[in-house]
Amino acid sequence: MKLTIIGYWGGYPKKNGASSGYLLEHNGFNLLIDCGSGVLSKLQNIIEPEELDAVILSHYHPDHIADIGVLQHARLIQGFLDKSFPTLPLYGHSFDQAEFTKLTYKDITKGINYDPNSVLSVGPFQVSFLKTNHPVPCYAMRIEANGKTLVYTGDSSYKEEFIEFGKGADILLCECNFYQHQDGKSAGHMNSIDAGRFAEKAGVKQLILTHLPHYGKPTKLISEASTEYTGIIKLADEFQTILV
Ligand SMILES: [Zn+2]
Repeated sequence: MKLTIIGYWGGYPKKNGASSGYLLEHNGFNLLIDCGSGVLSKLQNIIEPEELDAVILSHYHPDHIADIGVLQHARLIQGFLDKSFPTLPLYGHSFDQAEFTKLTYKDITKGINYDPNSVLSVGPFQVSFLKTNHPVPCYAMRIEANGKTLVYTGDSSYKEEFIEFGKGADILLCECNFYQHQDGKSAGHMNSIDAGRFAEKAGVKQLILTHLPHYGKPTKLISEASTEYTGIIKLADEFQTILV
């Protein structure tokens, strides 16, 4: 599978950037994971909105869903131009009914609630879930295809259950919203030490730090995380691709 980072800022997009959005492709199937602010604009450097086959959402904070409305508009308008493409499935949890309801729009997109206790099949991907520690219901995802695994934390403070959930992943796409000297627990986020510890204990093959802070020197997050994890660590970067 091929992962392309579309946006990686935590909270809001920095100038000319995008907040959370990750394109995962396998066997020609395009799955967008989260759809934050700026993602629709950035995505068009890689594929057209109508080429998406599914979207899956970790939770309903704006930096993860802000561009759902404009994605719906894009598919509506392209549909007026005589292009035909199927209703786009938007997978999200249904523990916030008001937000979940917005995922369905005409016959353009259809909200489909995932059961966090079951494995979900989306195209070639098998997705399992773990509830995270965050102010609103949020789910981490373990996505498998063709014997390879991507684990995406969504937003969360550190939790021990991550170790089993992330075991042996080829890619750990881990939120890292804080530096070592900061405690993200009350905000529901991890710092660089948490991310490194998770990666080390779960024995993942590489660690990508994302949901990055707007201040300080993000490269410092790598040196801090490397005190815990001895494998490959990268900072998420726009249009960066990782093949596994
Ligand atoms: Zn959040």
